Amino acid sequence: MLDALQRPVHDLRISVTDRCNFRCVYCMPKHIFGPNYSFLKRSQLLSYEEIERVARIFVNHGVRKLRLTGGEPLVRKDIELLIEKLSAIDGVQDLSLTTNGSLLTLDKAEKLRASGLRRITISLDSLDGDTFKSMNGVDFAPEPILQAIDTAAAVGLAPVKVNMVVKRGVNDNAVQSAAEYFRGTGHIIRFIEYMDVGNSNRWQREQVISAAEIRDIIGRKFPIEPASPDYHGEVAQRWRYRDGSGEIGIIASVSQPFCSTCTRARLSADGLLYTCLFANTGHDLRAPLRAGTTDEELATTIRQIWSARTDRYSELRASQTIEIPKIEMSYIGG
Ligand code: SAM
Ligand code: SF4
Ligand code: SF4
Repeated sequence: MLDALQRPVHDLRISVTDRCNFRCVYCMPKHIFGPNYSFLKRSQLLSYEEIERVARIFVNHGVRKLRLTGGEPLVRKDIELLIEKLSAIDGVQDLSLTTNGSLLTLDKAEKLRASGLRRITISLDSLDGDTFKSMNGVDFAPEPILQAIDTAAAVGLAPVKVNMVVKRGVNDNAVQSAAEYFRGTGHIIRFIEYMDVGNSNRWQREQVISAAEIRDIIGRKFPIEPASPDYHGEVAQRWRYRDGSGEIGIIASVSQPFCSTCTRARLSADGLLYTCLFANTGHDLRAPLRAGTTDEELATTIRQIWSARTDRYSELRASQTIEIPKIEMSYIGG
């Protein structure tokens, strides 16, 4: 199944909730996502059965990677029941989850692994307590997240990927120490350029630390060299330490957009299908799902949506002159 720019669909990112126990400054700033913010209601969320149905159709059309995200996916009750269903779908080669790690106890990690989860990505923006606390907006210390990363690896969700969003003047001074901490541990830290997802973070180009700068900061202390991508369309550029002590990833979505190889579809927690992280409208799959539509009819709808896809927001970012309303990251899923 190819889109209008000849890109196949290969990954489906599934947001299971728009809620989160963190208030990261670049994602759910407190002044907007406060006590009066209106999140989706339980009845608006797709059930695990509904998500499984959509996922099966996508897998029949070429999707091989499923990623659960949010909001914070571990705040959704018994997420392992969904993982069990998804891991039983024939053709899924990769099933992973992205989490802030705050709720990842040993018991939870074991349940996730036992239900068929293969990999996990845990976000951590700084090893420095004050910086991390100010970035997550809820005063959460880094130590439990570091523990969660080790726990995940210990139950077999290895290698653990660690996501760090780098924002100029906020945590750029934490890049080198994070690289140093994870060097030689087997965990792979990935530095992400701060993106203009949604509107509430009031993104400005000057706040982005580019991939080139990140390479520079790390390379000054630890010589690195490029490694070849694991697969076509991989978002992270891989770099390995010359002394053999592991690798890092850099996600250059702003400075080197990768729309031409973008094979990702996104399903929001309330069942809207988005064909780009920066989309401002989605296609409702929940209504047909709940109206007794057959799988064949749903598949036809999905084929029509994907084949009309022309999204390449990041490539066009520099030439955008008007501010368009965009979907928030916590809603659409990272
Ligand atoms: N709550 C989970 C977490 O934080 O890992 C999963 C959802 S979160 C939206 C997924 C990823 O998106 C996280 O690694 C987060 O750091 C990243 N992210 C959120 N807002 C971002 C932004 N404006 N620019 C770049 N990455 C962002
Ligand atoms: Fe929550 Fe993840 Fe967004 Fe932070 S990045 S506010 S942890 S959804
Ligand atoms: Fe894909 Fe849209 Fe990101 Fe481009 S901007 S890489 S099309 S999600």
